[in-house]
Amino acid sequence: MTLYLDYNASTPVDPRVLEVMFEAYRFYYGNASSHKHVYGQKASALVQCARRQIASILDVGEEEVIFTSGATESNNLAILGLARWGMENNRKHIVTTPIEHKSVLEPIKYLASQGFEVEQVSVGASGRIEADEVISRVRPDTLLVSVMHANNETGVIQPVKEIGEYLINTDTYFHVDAAQTFGKLVDELKELKYDLLSISAHKVYGPQGVGALIRRRRKYTFPHLEPLIKGGGQEKGLRSGTLPVALIAGFGHAAALAAVEYEKRRAHDLALRESVLAQLACSNMDYVLIGDQDHVLSHTLSVSFPNIDSDTLILVLKEDVAISTGSACTSDAKEPSHVLTAMGLPGEIINGAVRISWGPGIDEKNLKLPLEKLQNLANLRFY
Ligand code: PMP
Repeated sequence: MTLYLDYNASTPVDPRVLEVMFEAYRFYYGNASSHKHVYGQKASALVQCARRQIASILDVGEEEVIFTSGATESNNLAILGLARWGMENNRKHIVTTPIEHKSVLEPIKYLASQGFEVEQVSVGASGRIEADEVISRVRPDTLLVSVMHANNETGVIQPVKEIGEYLINTDTYFHVDAAQTFGKLVDELKELKYDLLSISAHKVYGPQGVGALIRRRRKYTFPHLEPLIKGGGQEKGLRSGTLPVALIAGFGHAAALAAVEYEKRRAHDLALRESVLAQLACSNMDYVLIGDQDHVLSHTLSVSFPNIDSDTLILVLKEDVAISTGSACTSDAKEPSHVLTAMGLPGEIINGAVRISWGPGIDEKNLKLPLEKLQNLANLRFY
């Protein structure tokens, strides 16, 4: 069977999460907004339980959790949702980075077309932005700073802690896309100072199609967001639509499991990373590790084989492993990765770059054969 090593694109659903979802689909099929009968009340109670589980792992209030369809929607709600208030209050300056996920870059590009002034800080070959570069661009009319917690392609962790500590003393909102770190960098997220945080279930062994936007209160006031999806106002008036009870229950359970297991998972992921790195180091392959290896997710390896075209590599190893050349959400595009391009990496490094990402259930012995095949391939040299 092909070994799945694309956990940053989507993780397998934990069987324990599936069980909770199965139960919810079977017995909790009421509409969580139908408060007048027991079916609705039971569904609503399940949603509240999930809300509590998510609030607890982030150490935020339950009323600060807004369920969405995933991090793409959360990012859009955070960015576009602030626009009207920004326009009405002459706060039309936004600071971000060129390595954000497309679901941040595109809404910001849209706002630029509507008259917002957008500054992107530069990022070097390390793939890690400088906190000071962001901070030095903040002005009295800066509406929003949006910086991801960890990059999905390189796994590089960004200095959001420092940025958050600065911004908390200003009037600028801080949005963090934590799709890749929720349930993983648990302690860091509890400490982080932010106004808006995007999270997703399917990166942390939960189901696809559900996520949340965390909107934090500052001095008793929530960020001035307006809804993008209008209707029944189910999620505090900020997001309408019947709540997908089973997905939400699965998300909550995935969060609860992560809260208990994240340290164990991280230790496992780190050991696997070290083992792969050791095997690469002992091989005679030409390779370059991409990104700042001192600030990187333990389950992500971005590596380039400059002598091999990454599409060829993925094709040749297709029967053995499922890996990616870049972000899954944009991998249909034929253009080179916007992240690696923004890092200013040479063409041959970008061309040979692959992303390997894993989690519990993958161990050293699973990787032996693919690594041997890789070595054979590297020895062939394609150009
Ligand atoms: N942000 C980042 C950093 C991501 O990695 C992803 C998923 N590739 C998203 C946002 C979008 O998340 P979702 O699939 O939940 O919409």
